[in-house]
Amino acid sequence: MSTAIELYARARPGYEERVASAVAVLQAAAAAHPGRVVLTTSLGVEDMVLADLIARHRLPIALATLETGRLHAETLALIPRLEQRYGLQVERWLPQAGQALQFVREHGELAMRQSIELRKACCALRKLEPLARLLAGRSAWVTGLRREQSGARAEVAFESIDEQGRTKYSPLADWSQADVWHHVEQHDVPYNPLHDAFFPSIGCEPCTRAVALGEDFRAGRWWWEQEDAKECGLHASTSRPSPAQKENA
Ligand code: SF4
Repeated sequence: MSTAIELYARARPGYEERVASAVAVLQAAAAAHPGRVVLTTSLGVEDMVLADLIARHRLPIALATLETGRLHAETLALIPRLEQRYGLQVERWLPQAGQALQFVREHGELAMRQSIELRKACCALRKLEPLARLLAGRSAWVTGLRREQSGARAEVAFESIDEQGRTKYSPLADWSQADVWHHVEQHDVPYNPLHDAFFPSIGCEPCTRAVALGEDFRAGRWWWEQEDAKECGLHASTSRPSPAQKENA
């Protein structure tokens, strides 16, 4: 079986410039929000690339992940690998004690498959509420969103403002899948082995499946829902130009 590196890594023109641009965005984030900026890592390959850039450039940006209670064993195993590789600590944010248990008691283990409302309720208690606590006291966050990932992400800006007024940075907004895997190959970045099993986007175990050849990047997430419903609410925002865009305006 081919690995994700063998399948996707390509040295494309402009890669070095895109790396430099991503580092510049991270440096700007760290400078503008000292001690108050965090990489919210899903432990997907884009976030591993960002962790690599943060560590490589010794940037004062915290790392945090949402441990939803429904992650794959492979995803959980990546946390200590990341910490050991880079000497960084990853904050783990869990659902409120008892809430997830109560939800499962009331609606069952696979409640998210019953209706969009129950799926969103599950995401709200396992992701959105812990994310709100994670971001409390912070003025900015960094994500691995890329425009190429889906139609809903086609307009992702390097810098935007979320609904709570925090600055949200997406340094890989203009990176391709080939760029991401080329960077992984070049720097031996640790990654989730599920990516080698055709899981391009990895969320919770009950809500993620492998994709078939030619399927969209996000096709394996909540695959029983309509395309336009398939975001969990973590990334609602209004965009504004990046520092570089402002200079060029
Ligand atoms: S992705 Fe699935 S299991 Fe995870 S929080 Fe959302 S509905 Fe629940």
